[in-house]
Amino acid sequence: MFKHYTMNQVILPLDLEMKLKENDIAFAVNDLVESIPSEAFEKFLRQTGRPAYHPRMMLKIILCGYTQSVFSGRKIEALLEDSVRMMWLAQGEVPSYRTINRFRSNPLIENLLRECFVQFRNQLVEKELIEEEAIFIDGTKIEANANKFTFVWRKSVERYSDQLIEKSDQLYDELLKKEIIPAIERENEEELFVEELEEVVEKLDEKVEAYDEQIEACEAGSERKKIRSERKLPKQARKQFMDFITRKQKYQKDMEIFGDRNSYSKTDLDATFMRMKDDYMKNGQLKAGYNVQLATEGQYALAYDVFPNPTDTRTLKPFLDTIEEKYFRLPELIVADAGYGSEQNYEDIIEGRNRTPLITYNQYRKEKKKKHKENAFHVDNWEYNEKEDSFQCPNGRKVWFSHHSNRTDRYGFTRQFKVYECEDCSGCPLRDLCTKAKDGNNRKVYINEKWESQKEYVRKKLSDEKTGEIYGKRKIDVEPVFGFLKANLGFTRFSVRGKEKVKNELGFAFMAVNLRKYIAKQPIPPIDNKNDSNKNGSDYQKPIIGTIVFVIGWLCPSLSSLLFRCCHFLWNDIFIKLFFCQQSKFNCCFFQCRILFKRRLCNLSCIFITNIRI
Ligand code: SF4
Repeated sequence: MFKHYTMNQVILPLDLEMKLKENDIAFAVNDLVESIPSEAFEKFLRQTGRPAYHPRMMLKIILCGYTQSVFSGRKIEALLEDSVRMMWLAQGEVPSYRTINRFRSNPLIENLLRECFVQFRNQLVEKELIEEEAIFIDGTKIEANANKFTFVWRKSVERYSDQLIEKSDQLYDELLKKEIIPAIERENEEELFVEELEEVVEKLDEKVEAYDEQIEACEAGSERKKIRSERKLPKQARKQFMDFITRKQKYQKDMEIFGDRNSYSKTDLDATFMRMKDDYMKNGQLKAGYNVQLATEGQYALAYDVFPNPTDTRTLKPFLDTIEEKYFRLPELIVADAGYGSEQNYEDIIEGRNRTPLITYNQYRKEKKKKHKENAFHVDNWEYNEKEDSFQCPNGRKVWFSHHSNRTDRYGFTRQFKVYECEDCSGCPLRDLCTKAKDGNNRKVYINEKWESQKEYVRKKLSDEKTGEIYGKRKIDVEPVFGFLKANLGFTRFSVRGKEKVKNELGFAFMAVNLRKYIAKQPIPPIDNKNDSNKNGSDYQKPIIGTIVFVIGWLCPSLSSLLFRCCHFLWNDIFIKLFFCQQSKFNCCFFQCRILFKRRLCNLSCIFITNIRI
């Protein structure tokens, strides 16, 4: 026996929502987007031109596409014609891939996505799925939409630029020496700027034109030949100076694009070359990418940002600023790995934001090891005399305070050190083991008191049972989100170019991860084959019920209306849909009623003939 199957039956349009499972991801997408206030969509409103697709609908279909690991505009368009959930979300509309791509790269989307994240977090808090106690921060690198051979290196540009300055100066001096051009007014004796190079070209132009006129006026062949050979040098110099101008302008533009970076990609100017973890060739090749920073709790992505610098240390401060400014108030505890542990970051969190950093530092694990604790030459293990402000070295000599020293890094952050120097290292039998200082010099020790006190503070917090346990959650909170993003969702490379567009795409991807996670955590509805009308067992009942109600509806519309009213009184959770459809000879009014009663779905359908067409 086969299940009921016929191709010749007339099918009336059905509400696609009925086809979806109760815990389908489309409902989560719909609920999330519907929770965004209407004001957030007002900026998309245009008074002129053809009415646009509703931004709510566009946002829903792109988000739903991303949850299905579909990131391409064309494939999302194809899904709109294939997937029931996409058809339902779009309510039958099929925007083209161009519209989809234009919408997702619209600068206004950033705010919309931010609103999505804020609303989603509110929902999580409401349902007590996250505790607002700590935030877990980590970063990952994601490949840009650019070829790995499109690099431009700062060092190369600087080197070529220096060579150009040298060459242009030399040639200019030569032209002056040979009195081909008069001296020009220079801003700087070391370098010829673009305007000055242009002035030189003008002068050379005049010189070449003068030679041209002389050649035309001269009739003797030998004389013309002589002038032509004299014209050769200014003509060649003019060509070279024109090349200098083009190259100098290009180098200036390159330096503007670099900003603080050391490289950029010619395809995606905002992408920086960095070392990726997935180095399949094992040759340490750098790839164009972005450093993605993420804040999570309960394995949900709550805030994100994109940075060009490959190391995490300098991204923490601006990222926390972004969270506070755009997403939510920072919780009490900020948890991150040792990559973020720096004096500047500790200072910012403790003093600037009045929060607690649960962030280790580079030497944290090493310091706990026996080897470190037993290393007699490490200053941590030396005896300190507070009264004298001195240490005692393994050779029993005094290491006195010498002077204060400041170090400013290339980003402008200054650290203060106390410098201690051993009274006399000469003739010490332990010298080779203790110091690499040149002969005649004593060992010097640099102590950063602020850094030491910050480290002590962090050690204390991490050894505390409660905060230590929260720090222990770091690996199982933020790391899996990157795993879901890359391995489950398959999002390993951006499909758009430029930082702003990349940010938008990342927002869609992280929200897709969130929604999938959210749906996976929802309780699965019980399976009841006997009574669930959506199941196969009811396939035979549907046409029978449909036919009966059809006949009732045809013969007595008021009876059907009464039936619906009764249902409405009996059960609150009732959905009634109304469709109009045109068959060949009839205009029909088609009612669909979906009743949720004690988690069992009952479907009722009814048709009224509104008029017969002649
Ligand atoms: S090298 Fe100097 S600091 Fe080191 S153990 Fe010898 S005397 Fe002490």
